[in-house]
Amino acid sequence: MPAGYDYVKELGCGKFGIAKLCKDKVTGEEVAVKFLPRGPKIDKNVERELVNHRSLKHPNIVQFKKVALTRTHLAVFLEYASGGELFDRIAKKGRLKEGEARYFFQQLVCGVDYCHSEMVCHRDLKLENTLLDQDSRVKICDFGYSKSAVYHSVPDTAVGTPTYIAPEVLLDDQYGGNSADVWSLGVALFVMLAGRYPFQDPKAPSDIQKTVQRIANVEYTFPSDLDISAECREIIERIFVADPGERISIPELRKTPWFQENLSVAVSSASSPVQQASPQDVQELEATLKQACISDAPAESGSLHPDTVPEDDDDCL
Ligand code: ATP
Ligand code: MG
Repeated sequence: MPAGYDYVKELGCGKFGIAKLCKDKVTGEEVAVKFLPRGPKIDKNVERELVNHRSLKHPNIVQFKKVALTRTHLAVFLEYASGGELFDRIAKKGRLKEGEARYFFQQLVCGVDYCHSEMVCHRDLKLENTLLDQDSRVKICDFGYSKSAVYHSVPDTAVGTPTYIAPEVLLDDQYGGNSADVWSLGVALFVMLAGRYPFQDPKAPSDIQKTVQRIANVEYTFPSDLDISAECREIIERIFVADPGERISIPELRKTPWFQENLSVAVSSASSPVQQASPQDVQELEATLKQACISDAPAESGSLHPDTVPEDDDDCL
């Protein structure tokens, strides 16, 4: 465990490591800490995720706090979202009512709009990457594939999750990430309302090739018994447009009466102050990451970042 923190419980395992709930011994603050094994897996992608995430401060985005080194792991400290994944809520309920889906969608759009204003596109938006806090406030996480237009060139690799991916990402090697994020937001809205993915073939949901083909053809249907307003359908239809230039943009989306309805409820619930943890200097962050690339680095006191914890932490994984 990083020095100064108590272990509370395990939150789950991801592709790169384990996430644990920890508590600051002094302040009692709960934080989610992701432990990534030190070594070559701490690469440019991890660096990109952390550098992008570090610069973002918004009520609908999981707040990045800091990174620290233990002897065996890079520990990434994040705001704790105690309400679980939005995906699980839908999996339990089946479908959400239009008003409830809009409430979550509004917050997703506000968070993504903010990212875009900071020149960061997320590129892996999905309900599994949407956490909730104790007040059901949306907290977007996982910037693993995000690419900042400031730090990097136009996104040019086909990354993302097939079910949420935009046609231009599948077909093109150069695409503007912002409109691809809008597409993914449309998929998230559809899933909340319909309780299923729009572009999966209902007869062969796990056939990725079929899904890809249907995305490319923008081939989807609303469930016949779906009880949603015409305005809501129109929003989805304006998002699921193959040409990213013709697709509704976030500013246009935000102006629609459907989006404006009860917006203040969603936004006021999101307006609690963002915790201003002492922001870790970007050079300090990069130095820690460089050190983290080296596995089993000697844990000499004073030779690493001040947050370095030379104590044994083999129980991390
Ligand atoms: P992937 O590797 O594709 O991101 P994942 O999202 O399951 O997969 P992690 O991001 O490492 O993996 O997260 C592991 C678990 O911890 C998930 O169940 C996730 O919901 C939970 N989790 C991650 N970050 C937080 C957080 N800030 N607050 C609460 N739970 C979190
Ligand atoms: Mg994750």
